[in-house]
Amino acid sequence: MIKRKGTLFIISAPSGSGKTTLCTRLVESVDSLYRSISMTTRAPRPGEKDGVDYIFIEKPEFIKRQKKNEFLEWAKVFGEYYGTPKKHILHMLKRGSDVLLSIDVQGAMKIKRLKLEAVYIFILPPSLAMLKERLVNRSTDSKEAIRERLNISRKEIACSQKYDYVIVNNRLELALDNLRAIIIAERCKTGRS
Ligand code: 5GP
Repeated sequence: MIKRKGTLFIISAPSGSGKTTLCTRLVESVDSLYRSISMTTRAPRPGEKDGVDYIFIEKPEFIKRQKKNEFLEWAKVFGEYYGTPKKHILHMLKRGSDVLLSIDVQGAMKIKRLKLEAVYIFILPPSLAMLKERLVNRSTDSKEAIRERLNISRKEIACSQKYDYVIVNNRLELALDNLRAIIIAERCKTGRS
């Protein structure tokens, strides 16, 4: 029997690009794709569940885990800490499962520096104006926070060329089809078995 190595898929996108919806729909519709649940010190948004959307922890707990080298990568985003728990992911990859990380550009570049084999996918919003509209409609951020998110978005978009694939999230279903196509193609690549 041929044994497959698990593939690490890393998805980044500016805040408000529809990345969370895309990732949720992707893991629902693709077999054997496991989404890593990050730890964060930010407060849950309405509707978010601990252990499902994120593992919500206090800052001292995060620092303690960071010092114990429990994160594959971590980053400070909008003043809060976010980290990818390492142990479970490495175990999943080793046993042949594919793992999806939805993380920011800083975290993705940290993983690149680790020289861990991964497929990097960047989701672009149709335009910055559309991004602003989505952030305003989401009603979870203050005007100041939206301005900061848009500034960071501009810098993140400039990094999109460092990714293997770029998808414009113009229409959700189309973007989802493109994402699925990337996963399937990567699974068929020679050298993955
Ligand atoms: P949000 O607070 O809007 O859920 O996430 C803010 C940003 O942090 C998003 O770009 C999201 O992808 C990123 N993020 C979420 N989890 C992690 C993580 O574990 N590591 C890193 N580096 N970024 C993360």
